[in-house]
Amino acid sequence: MRVVVVGGGIGGLALGAGLRRRGFEVAVFDRDTDVAATGGYHITLDERAQSALKDLVEPMIMQRLLASGSALRLRERDAFWDRRGRLLGHGPDLSDSASIDVDRITLRMLLAEAVGDGLHLGCNVSGVGHDDHGAPQVLFTDGAPVSADLVVGADGTHSVVARHLAGGPTNSPAGIIGFSGRTLRRDLSPGEHQRLGPRSGLAIGPRGAALYVGFLDPVGNTALDAPELRMSVTTGPTYIWGAMFPESTSTDSLRDLRGGELQAALLGRFRERGWAERTLEVIAQADPHSVAGFRFNAASTRAEDLAPWPAGRITALGDAVHATPPTAGMGAGAAIRDAASLLTHVSAAADGTATLTDAVDHFEAGMRRRGSEVLTLAMKTVRWILATDTTLGAAATVVSTPILAAAARLRH
Ligand SMILES: Cc1cc2nc3c(=O)[nH]c(=O)nc-3n(C[C@H](O)[C@H](O)[C@H](O)COP(=O)(O)OP(=O)(O)OC[C@H]3O[C@@H](n4cnc5c(N)ncnc54)[C@H](O)[C@@H]3O)c2cc1C
Repeated sequence: MRVVVVGGGIGGLALGAGLRRRGFEVAVFDRDTDVAATGGYHITLDERAQSALKDLVEPMIMQRLLASGSALRLRERDAFWDRRGRLLGHGPDLSDSASIDVDRITLRMLLAEAVGDGLHLGCNVSGVGHDDHGAPQVLFTDGAPVSADLVVGADGTHSVVARHLAGGPTNSPAGIIGFSGRTLRRDLSPGEHQRLGPRSGLAIGPRGAALYVGFLDPVGNTALDAPELRMSVTTGPTYIWGAMFPESTSTDSLRDLRGGELQAALLGRFRERGWAERTLEVIAQADPHSVAGFRFNAASTRAEDLAPWPAGRITALGDAVHATPPTAGMGAGAAIRDAASLLTHVSAAADGTATLTDAVDHFEAGMRRRGSEVLTLAMKTVRWILATDTTLGAAATVVSTPILAAAARLRH
């Protein structure tokens, strides 16, 4: 059976790796020309995502991933702060967590290696359809069409494939614009070094401004102590932060800025909203080249709205179907789990125990449930952030955060 995968992001490469490992003929096409030249901060892989990956890639790729990942159990509890940097409380104890964090770039490079020469870069897909024999076909802006037994759209939020299947967009802007950057822990002042600590945290202020500061240390907190296998692009304790604002005409102007200009503009937006200088140090000390903006898009949280098409020999997975804002840290994991599920069902079709259409039908039913679950979690945080952008929400945030901060001080 020949499978063509459109999109070599996390889900598409995971599927390509799994299909190749099981002996399928597979081609993955991505418009990027270099898998390492990809934006993004870190990806959290929970136990289910790791277990799905174990089904998809060779054990050695998994070992290298763990040696390049940072274990959440070795991190201190997450912290919640107000805009002045006062502690409001802590997240749950992480000592039992099986999750790991890994650089998006590192993960993508490892998965690309697993796909090997089945990955074709620099290929921009313009559409999908059927050839003269009724087989699914992929069309390129530059190049001859390619036919297959099964076509899978893993082409992310603005998916050409899912749009074709659904007859329109499968998601819409969630109302938040995000900006990310990387800051080496050693570049912070001793006070901020101490306050942020070896943990991730979230600060929320009035008018929908939020700052997530993720701690990534694949060396000190390695998930597998095997330095010879390590290939993480992050080589020391690093804060990978994400600033969030409600989308408005004022944030639109930020979208055209890059690097140092964007960094300065972001600092200005936080200062206008009354954030203390110390809480902004992590942004001010970031590598300007690492600062980039991205819009949050979200699909419906209702399972029945996802993949609203009859099953056939063209399908889609991951963000193409259930675009998930990064606020739950589960979008990549869900795409990997989609890939593992599709591999299981397609293998059953190849063995003759199911028709290909039935296999896709079963896969899509599970994907709807998975997508709805992660979207519901991610949208909870999105709604919470947006609620502080109302007059009442802003007032409540200003009034309640000092009280929560005082209560947190009493507890410690
Ligand atoms: C640049 C980037 C950075 C991200 N950073 C983070 C992060 O740091 N943390 C996090 O939790 N999540 C991040 N995400 C989101 C997270 O990676 C996704 O939720 C998750 O990977 C879903 O996987 P996916 O395979 O469905 O889509 P994606 O990983 O988005 O992959 C889609 C792929 O399709 C390709 N593509 C799109 N259209 C076409 C076309 N017409 N022709 C050919 N190829 C096409 C894209 O180049 C891309 O490689 C990021 C996504 C992107 C695109």
